[in-house]
Amino acid sequence: MSSITVCARFRPLSSKEKRDHNDSICIHILDAGTLIFKDEKEEDHLFCFDRVFCQESEQSDVYEFLALPIIQDAVNAINGTILTYGQTGAGKTYSMEGPNILEGNEKKKGLLPRVVEGLFDCLRSSEKVYTVKLSMVEIYMEKVRDLFDLSKDNLQIKEDKIQGIYLSGVTEVSVLDPEEALQNLCNGIANRAVGETQMNMASSRSHCVYIFTIQQECTGERRLKTGKIILVDLAGSEKVEKTGAEGKVLEEAKTINKSLSALGNVINALTSGTPGKANHIPYRDSKLTRILQDALGGNSRTALLCCCSPSTLNASESLSTLRFGARAKHI
Ligand code: ADP
Ligand code: MG
Repeated sequence: MSSITVCARFRPLSSKEKRDHNDSICIHILDAGTLIFKDEKEEDHLFCFDRVFCQESEQSDVYEFLALPIIQDAVNAINGTILTYGQTGAGKTYSMEGPNILEGNEKKKGLLPRVVEGLFDCLRSSEKVYTVKLSMVEIYMEKVRDLFDLSKDNLQIKEDKIQGIYLSGVTEVSVLDPEEALQNLCNGIANRAVGETQMNMASSRSHCVYIFTIQQECTGERRLKTGKIILVDLAGSEKVEKTGAEGKVLEEAKTINKSLSALGNVINALTSGTPGKANHIPYRDSKLTRILQDALGGNSRTALLCCCSPSTLNASESLSTLRFGARAKHI
């Protein structure tokens, strides 16, 4: 049975929100996991999550609560996934990467560099021998692009008995230490920006997927034990004005909306199933859920970080983000 941890995180007010909305905030945090949200009509909504991270919370708090348990499990061949969800500007990339992953700002660095360090720490303290491989892909308009090799711009998802679900031909870089892993991640992030300029696309319109494959070399046994950690910086969940948007923008919005609902449906199906009874999980409804199939289903851990603005200016988008989280958590 898979387990899911759902958290909400509110970033500090932006200078624009402060200026235009007099610091007006639509949330009131009651305790570590509970908050009251005031909507535009001044109506209150109560939300319960595994944890609520307030504006003052630190990157290290998020890491310790969400990622550390996933690292420890992945080393024991249990797959884990961490997803950041929310409207553009809500703090997904800040939470995932931090301001700049190579900059090395201890306090501000995000989940990705912390996972890299935590993972290698965990492997070093083990008696077993491991290899770590890294891949990075971007999903845009239902096409999967290799961020370590931009010439591979339409990777196919395949499945077999030994590997499970895999991206056929994806670049897998073996990394020996945290420095090497971070350097490769930086290259991938830089490539992502290059591709976006070429395609005239905003990074907020694609899902960015970081895949760590941790292979345990078993002596005496033929089978290698593998655990995966997948981190996903999701495309912005904001609704696009139906009237204004047209052409490419509308197509992008529809595609993102479809994949995010597919994600919600898969998480829901996984957490609401009757134990012992097989229910249909709609993994095939999007590339995103198909890639995440092994990481979400089976024996695995999932953590969803719902990123929100605390400002009344963004109340309706934040409410919809919190509802997505609440729906994922609902059993
Ligand atoms: P998203 O990836 O969801 O579009 P970003 O992560 O890029 O949003 O965040 C938008 C802006 O808010 C950035 O300037 C970022 O530095 C800032 N920000 C987001 N979360 C925090 C936080 N927890 N603390 C400080 N600044 C934050
Ligand atoms: Mg972002």
